[in-house]
Amino acid sequence: MPEPAEVDVLIIGGGIYGVGIAQAAASAGHSVLLVEQQHIASATSGNSTKLIHGGLRYLESMQLGLVYEALHERELLFKLAPGLVSREWFYIPVYRYNRRPAWLLRVGLMLYQALSLGRSRFKSIPRRQWHQRIPGLETEQMTALLAYEDGATDDAALTRAVAASATKLGAEIRQHTAFVSASREGDVWLAQLSSGVEISAKIVINAAGPWVNSVCDRITPAPPKRHIQRVQGAHLHLNRPCHAFVYVESGDGRVMFFRPWQHGTLAGTTETDFSGDPAAVHASEDEVAAILATYNRYFPENPCRESDILKQYCGIRVLPQHPGGAFSASRHTMIVCDDEARPAYIALYGGKLTTYRKESEKVAQLIARSLPATRRADTRHLKLLPE
Ligand SMILES: Cc1cc2nc3c(=O)[nH]c(=O)nc-3n(C[C@H](O)[C@H](O)[C@H](O)COP(=O)(O)OP(=O)(O)OC[C@H]3O[C@@H](n4cnc5c(N)ncnc54)[C@H](O)[C@@H]3O)c2cc1C
Repeated sequence: MPEPAEVDVLIIGGGIYGVGIAQAAASAGHSVLLVEQQHIASATSGNSTKLIHGGLRYLESMQLGLVYEALHERELLFKLAPGLVSREWFYIPVYRYNRRPAWLLRVGLMLYQALSLGRSRFKSIPRRQWHQRIPGLETEQMTALLAYEDGATDDAALTRAVAASATKLGAEIRQHTAFVSASREGDVWLAQLSSGVEISAKIVINAAGPWVNSVCDRITPAPPKRHIQRVQGAHLHLNRPCHAFVYVESGDGRVMFFRPWQHGTLAGTTETDFSGDPAAVHASEDEVAAILATYNRYFPENPCRESDILKQYCGIRVLPQHPGGAFSASRHTMIVCDDEARPAYIALYGGKLTTYRKESEKVAQLIARSLPATRRADTRHLKLLPE
C-alpha cells in the first residue's frame, strides 16, 4: 500500500462554509485539502435566497446578536467583493390585511438601521411613486410602501470566488470526490475518499451542511453530534421581469421575497420540514402552489402558471432542535468539536451565507489551538473576484 498523502486539515464539503474554512486555514499557513462530492456550491450554498443581510425577519425572534454580526459582515463583503455583493433598496408594501402593521415595520426598520450603525437607511415612498418603483404591484388596500437598504449576491458565484481565493493561498480542492470514512490512528486521522485515495490529516472539518450528521456517523471514534431539524426552502425562477427587491407576506403570514434574477424573478422561500436524502430534495407541489399564489396575489396583472417556471431551486437549512419549531430555532452557526482545548474534529451546523467569513475565522482560531499558525493573510483583507 502507498503511504497516505499528509495534510494538516481535511475539509469535507464545498459549500460556503467549507471553502471559507479552506481560505481561513490556508491563510494561517496550514496545508489544506477540501473534498466535495459534487461541485462547489452544488447544495445549500447555490440554492439560497442569495441575500447578504442581517435578516430583518430575525428581529421578530429577537436574534439581535446574529443580526448585528451579520450586518457587520455584510459591510465587509461590500468592500471585499464589490463585483459579487451589491447594496440594494428592498421594498415592503403594507396592506390592510397584513399581520405586520406599518408602525411595527417602521420600528423594526429603525432597529435594523441602529444595528447596522446607520448603514441600512430606510424611508417611506410617497403614494405617487408606488407604480414607478414597483410596476405591476397590487395597490388595492395598500397603505404604505417602505424601503430599506440591504445586500444581494449570486451565492454560487460568491462561493466559487472564496474557493478561488483559498486555492490561491495554497489549498487543494478536489471536486467530485466524496469523503467515505475516517478513523483515528495515533495522532492523525486516516480518511478514505471515494477515489480510493487514503489521506492522513491532523484535523478533520465536517462542513457537509445537510449531510453533517451522516458524515459524523462515518468517523471512528464517534465525534460529538448535535440533534438537528432540517427544513427545506424552495424558490422559483419565473419568466416575469422584476424591477425591485420586494418583501411581502404570504397567505400564512410568513415573509417571501421577489428579486430580480437572470432576466426574470426569483420568488421564495418556503419552510417545510425535511427528512431523507438531501441529494433528492425538490420543491413539493404545495410549495410551488404557495409561491405562485403569493406572486399572483401581489402581481395580479400578469399571473404566473407552472408553465412560467424556468427553474426550481431547493435548499435545506440545518437548525438546532427547538420545541417551538423552525421559526423559533436559532439561525446561529453551531461549532462543535471533540476537544475544546486541542480539537482534532470540528463540525459546523447551520448558519448563514452572510456570516461564513466570521465563522470560518472562529474555526481557524480553534485549529490554531492544535496546530501552530504561521499567518500568511487575514481574510478581512482578501479581495474576492468574480470569475
Ligand atoms: C432556502 C434557503 C435560503 C437561504 N437564504 C439565505 C440568504 O439569503 N442569506 C444567507 O445569508 N443565508 C441564507 N441561507 C443559509 C445559507 O444558505 C446556508 O447557511 C449556507 O449555504 C450553508 O452552507 P454550508 O457550506 O454549510 O452547506 P452546503 O452549501 O450545503 O455545503 C455542504 C457541502 O458538503 C458536501 N458534502 C456532503 N457530504 C459530503 C461527503 N461525504 N463528501 C464530500 N462532500 C460532501 C455537499 O455536496 C455540499 O456541497 C439560506 C438557506 C436556505 C435553505
